[in-house]
Amino acid sequence: MKYYSLNNQSPEVSFKEATIKGQAPDKGLYFPKSLPGHDKSWIDGIKDKTNEEIALDVIRPYAGEDIPETELQKIVKETIDFPIPLVRINDHIFSLELFHGPTLAFKDVGARFMSRCLGYFARERSEKITVLVATSGDTGGAVANGFYDVDGVEVVILYPSGKVSQVQEKQLTTLGKNIHALEVKGSFDDCQQMVKRAFADTSLTSKQFLTSANSINVARWLPQQFYYFFAYRQWAIKEQPPVFCVPSGNFGNICAGMLAHISGLPAKHFIAACNANNVVPRFLDNGNYEVRPAVPTLSNAMDVGNPSNFVRILELFSHQFPELKKVLTGYTITDAETKETIRAVKEQEGYLLDPHGAVGYLALQRYLAAHPGESGIFLETAHPVKFYDVVEPVIKEKVAVPPAIQQILPLQKHSVKIDAEYNILKDYLLAR
Ligand SMILES: *Cc1c(COP(=O)(O)O)cnc(C)c1O
Repeated sequence: MKYYSLNNQSPEVSFKEATIKGQAPDKGLYFPKSLPGHDKSWIDGIKDKTNEEIALDVIRPYAGEDIPETELQKIVKETIDFPIPLVRINDHIFSLELFHGPTLAFKDVGARFMSRCLGYFARERSEKITVLVATSGDTGGAVANGFYDVDGVEVVILYPSGKVSQVQEKQLTTLGKNIHALEVKGSFDDCQQMVKRAFADTSLTSKQFLTSANSINVARWLPQQFYYFFAYRQWAIKEQPPVFCVPSGNFGNICAGMLAHISGLPAKHFIAACNANNVVPRFLDNGNYEVRPAVPTLSNAMDVGNPSNFVRILELFSHQFPELKKVLTGYTITDAETKETIRAVKEQEGYLLDPHGAVGYLALQRYLAAHPGESGIFLETAHPVKFYDVVEPVIKEKVAVPPAIQQILPLQKHSVKIDAEYNILKDYLLAR
């Protein structure tokens, strides 16, 4: 597979190069040159395949030229080495639980896949690779965990001080070794801006090999298709395909779902469930794409004012707004509605949502109310315990802490606190 830059000012590259570079030299996002298709017999036979077989078939056309089959098989196996169950909430709503990985959020799949690909490519290089990443919460932990102790790779994570949960902060500041955390006095958008500037700064990149592990990296974005197929494999309502509702921030996850759909995955519709950071729902309503600064909400991993991956969704639909609108609807859910949904679903269905899943649940419920007879899946993107500070006061109960989290809570956080200024980041990187 070849990848081109969405800014169209850079040469095409291989999967390997796209993974190592992260972003094209013209600052565009890489996009696959052709979209592989799964034929009907493959889709019909999906129930007889293992998750590993499905994942390998999905990713092979994208990565198979650069990673030998046995190695790719090993990477895939390690990437999805945990359950991804589809749980019935009621007759029409199902939860795809993506939080059974090591950091209890869906980003584990993309981060584990990318770290293993990069680890494989790093073996052939003499130069050290530095992964530079901005996180609004969950990326940091998943990337830190995925890359921990990978030879030849150093990781520098920027996160907004005071704007990630305590569990999230521990996950990205307590590992040590090749993982370094910078606590930025600013917002996620500030962190993302600083990272983008670093990649564009040739006086820095000529001295250090920098790459990104944000969802703009194709090796993080593409494997997210896996779990949409795993969900369909478990989908029991034969008469019609599911509506997929995706809690969205940077729009990498939902974009992967829509890519899977274009490649043959049966889906009735897609819903972008957003918090107050709703540039896309507003765009889908009125056709105006108005970027605004991010505002903090309870579903903080979706506090993104300018979603990087939305341009990939536009590309998937050849920038045809009417075509896109046929497949995608957006909803905006407030913090008050998020809390009320957590409370009501716990009380009425006995199911505990995290704030991101609650945004997804309510958006799906609204859509289904307007489309009677349809059924859908919302992606439960994080374990509620990661947001116990939000969830516990709402349900007035303690959330049981899984052993993996219990272990890190008492650990000492190690971070370097910096102002949201690019030159401080640059000096830090150059001094290492
Ligand atoms: C990152 C994240 C999201 C948003 O995913 P995008 O791919 O950025 O749209 C939603 N929920 C949780 C828990 C996340 O960590």
